[in-house]
Amino acid sequence: QTRTVWPDKTVDSVCPYCGVGCQTKVSVKDNKIVQVDGREGPANENRLCVKGRFGFDYIRHPERLTTPLVRREDSPKRGDIQVDPRNPWEVFREATWEEALGRAAGGLRDIRDTHGGGALAGFGSAKGSNEEAYLFQKLVRQGFGTNNVDHCTRLCHASSVAALIEGIGSGGVTAPFTAVEDADCFIVIGARPEQNHPVAATYLKQAAKRGAKVIVIDPRGQELMRHASHPVRFKPGTDVALLNAMLHVIIEEKLYDEQYVQAHASGFEALKEKVAEFSPEAMAPVCGVEADYIREIARTYANAERAIIFWGMGISQHVHGTDNSRCLIALALTTGHVGRPGTGLHPLRGQNNVQGASDAGLIPMVFPDYQSVEDPDVRRRYEDAWGQPLDPNRGLTVVEIMDAIHEGEIRGMYILGENPAMSDPDQTHARAALAKLDHLVVQDIFLTETAWHADVVLPASAHAEKLGTYTNTNRQVQLGRPAVSPPGEARQDWELICEIARRIGLDWRYSGVPEVYEEMRALMPSLANIPWSRIEREGSVTYPADDEDEPGREILFGEGFPTKDGRGRIVPADLLPPDELPDADYPMVLTTGRLLEHWHTGAMTRRAGTLNDLEPEPVACMHPRDIERLGATAGESIRVETRRGAIDLTLRADRDVSAGMVFIPFCYGEAPANVLTNPQLDPFGKIPEFKFCAARVSRVPQA
Ligand code: SF4
Repeated sequence: QTRTVWPDKTVDSVCPYCGVGCQTKVSVKDNKIVQVDGREGPANENRLCVKGRFGFDYIRHPERLTTPLVRREDSPKRGDIQVDPRNPWEVFREATWEEALGRAAGGLRDIRDTHGGGALAGFGSAKGSNEEAYLFQKLVRQGFGTNNVDHCTRLCHASSVAALIEGIGSGGVTAPFTAVEDADCFIVIGARPEQNHPVAATYLKQAAKRGAKVIVIDPRGQELMRHASHPVRFKPGTDVALLNAMLHVIIEEKLYDEQYVQAHASGFEALKEKVAEFSPEAMAPVCGVEADYIREIARTYANAERAIIFWGMGISQHVHGTDNSRCLIALALTTGHVGRPGTGLHPLRGQNNVQGASDAGLIPMVFPDYQSVEDPDVRRRYEDAWGQPLDPNRGLTVVEIMDAIHEGEIRGMYILGENPAMSDPDQTHARAALAKLDHLVVQDIFLTETAWHADVVLPASAHAEKLGTYTNTNRQVQLGRPAVSPPGEARQDWELICEIARRIGLDWRYSGVPEVYEEMRALMPSLANIPWSRIEREGSVTYPADDEDEPGREILFGEGFPTKDGRGRIVPADLLPPDELPDADYPMVLTTGRLLEHWHTGAMTRRAGTLNDLEPEPVACMHPRDIERLGATAGESIRVETRRGAIDLTLRADRDVSAGMVFIPFCYGEAPANVLTNPQLDPFGKIPEFKFCAARVSRVPQA
């Protein structure tokens, strides 16, 4: 028997999970969320996936942080201990806010004053609001005196952004995913929208039903392939071989748009020369796709009137991730499939606010709106705005910061809402780095694996407890409103950043989130015509907007690109192997990713009852043939090992995983996939190669 609960109120907000940015209606009873429904938002039109609809009860989980914590005086020095994951609380004691903030800020200030700002670093969060991201990077730049500030975009689309800025002068999407409604053809490569962007996937499937040609390219099978006119399974790590072969066909058969190339692109001749050696016949054995089929998909994309490309981390998380993205940009620029309805380039952004956090400057090379920290004119503008000299050198990225801790260059960190102890590659190395810090401040809603290493833990607010703007994958700036109040003594993140700022000597006095937004807007041309009052009124505004009364521009670059010469730049890519190839000792390929039910490191969804009931335990997925060869049975425990470590998981049979591969989701703290992954970086985007490393699999002897 079900009982109807009548809510006290409903609050209009946005989903806290993925970059689709579904608008939600949150129903609240007695300061508790009782239901979440979809609203008529531009990215979801009332739809929600299982995470958005059922993944809300984590915010009242008993493990929620409700008081500030400091490391106990009798606890061993952080670097000397292994935290017991069954009881990480035992190394902490409760503290007053005054003590916790004093210790948090005091430790950071002492390191800055003794060793210089370069000895400090900060990780902000793509789950926080734009205002929090702006304040956090400002704190690191102005207060710490360094550009060592980064966030998880480094681990997802950094290489895509590097290629996009180089190629078309902008890191955002050129068209929203809803532009697929006008497309005759679309490519999805290295992305699994049905798991990771489920509501966006519904638009893709509608377009397929309408008759659009659908080219889904992935080493693993996936549900979207059932809707594809052209499903393409290829060998992992050979993206450049396949994409350059498509470009070879487009040039050889003169399928490119000569007028468009002449008017809007540079680098075509160099591309022509490069891809001459990439004939489909030569590349077929490399990428595992038949030459005729490569020709067919190249013709299908190039001959379409309007075509759009979507991609995900299967493209970006490689040591050649930037080269992979360069090939996609070259496909769009040679065929003129950009700047018109139904065309474009769309890296599907991961976290709910990874677009906004990047826009707001949570990146070590750039101020807000991707303005280089090394450009003296740009820097002067920020120095005038913030009233002091700023670091003229680009800062370190996520993995570089971990290395710099090991080398003794970085001694203190402030980490807000990120969980590098789970999300960084080669986790043993990353956790050893966190343990080595002289001072670590973690601000979060749970005692995450990263917080285990902290000196001070500041209990913060969950998404449904705060006000702020969030920018989704479509460049839509949307308003998240507080539905419930934070538990216990937990406080608003933006207030805590300001508390730290004041205690390290900055005179910050913001009256509230709207004032922070307006300061950020004054420095960001992309938001110039989107005042806070407009977002409050409209709920969602696409940037850029030409006027405060004009809707934002959804389709960009019909008249050229924001590059020095106004042209898109085609950059030819070489074929480079993954960093670590299978060999006799480690004969399989390990790839990692997400499940539909869990988000990122699982800090939220593992504590959401319905979602965790659906996917409760760590699994390793293998093809049934490989399972048979191993002499194992699905459901038993297996060990997966790489050169960096080993973990035990439950074996799952999955025909979507190619023979010779093993897939592991990275959300399970009890068997962390990133113990295994390779930290080797793409040289441009500095993104690690999560999607490919050599592994071996064995049965675990039963007790
Ligand atoms: Fe939330 Fe993404 Fe699901 Fe929409 S598709 S409900 S934004 S997780």
